[in-house]
Amino acid sequence: MAGRIVYLNGDWLAEEKASISIFDRGFVMADSVYEVVAVLDGKLIDFDGHMARLTRSLEALEMASPASPEELLEVHRQLIAKNRLVMGCIYLQISRGNPGDRDFLFPDPPVPPTLVLYTQARPDLLDTNLAKRGLQIISLPDQRWLRRDIKTTQLLWPSMAKMLAKKAGADDAWMVEDGLITEGTSNNVFIVKEGQLITRALSNAVVHGITRAAVLACAGEMGLVIEERGFSLAEALAAEEAFVTSATMLVSPVVRLDGQQIGSGQPGPVARSLRQHYITAARKAAC
Ligand code: PLP
Repeated sequence: MAGRIVYLNGDWLAEEKASISIFDRGFVMADSVYEVVAVLDGKLIDFDGHMARLTRSLEALEMASPASPEELLEVHRQLIAKNRLVMGCIYLQISRGNPGDRDFLFPDPPVPPTLVLYTQARPDLLDTNLAKRGLQIISLPDQRWLRRDIKTTQLLWPSMAKMLAKKAGADDAWMVEDGLITEGTSNNVFIVKEGQLITRALSNAVVHGITRAAVLACAGEMGLVIEERGFSLAEALAAEEAFVTSATMLVSPVVRLDGQQIGSGQPGPVARSLRQHYITAARKAAC
């Protein structure tokens, strides 16, 4: 995806010209947080929710924010304009910056954070093959750290899990802890059982998905009964439907888990109508 204009610490640069220090704590310690905002028709989806979670992540790590949500909105908008982005997403990363050397301790006094934003064009965002055919999932133990509610760039296990899924001929992995599914490698998980929607409750065990929250609001408007609790692989396998939510996958159905089909083995009606409802609501509220 060459040719992009990216944002780095106040500068607009050709992507190949943007670089950060080898001592940046994002690189040395994964001491950085991130957000991913979807762009539909050149507009930002669920922006306020993403900024609220970013603030929460920064506060949890006692990291200063390099810009206010209003300033970040302006940077997002300029990035869309400069890259003529219509469908895709914007990645934002903030690290604790470059202390000038390697050290486990946070720099004292703090140094300026590193702020990076870049686009990814995804012309098929609303119409991916995965959403059409449904995802095949494998299960794996959840080997991440225990503060998954902080959205850090510490993504090695999710990345390895995705590779293991690919090697197994699947699309993604669901991670399991203490007999219950926590979430997908980069998405929150839902099942439909006797017409009710079940999704894991928020805690330190999962990323507090912004799409999850928006989809739950849609489900409420559609009159669906919602239960927020953990569920096991056996319960998921016996469900009528399953699906995942994230900024880039929106609502995407899951049709197989560990080689067994879920429900009819086809994308289900609840996932399909929630996806449509969410896309309509998100476009209406886009900024
Ligand atoms: N869970 C994990 C582990 C994630 O990495 C993500 C997104 O990156 C999500 C859930 C979904 O969050 P959101 O809906 O805010 O994209």
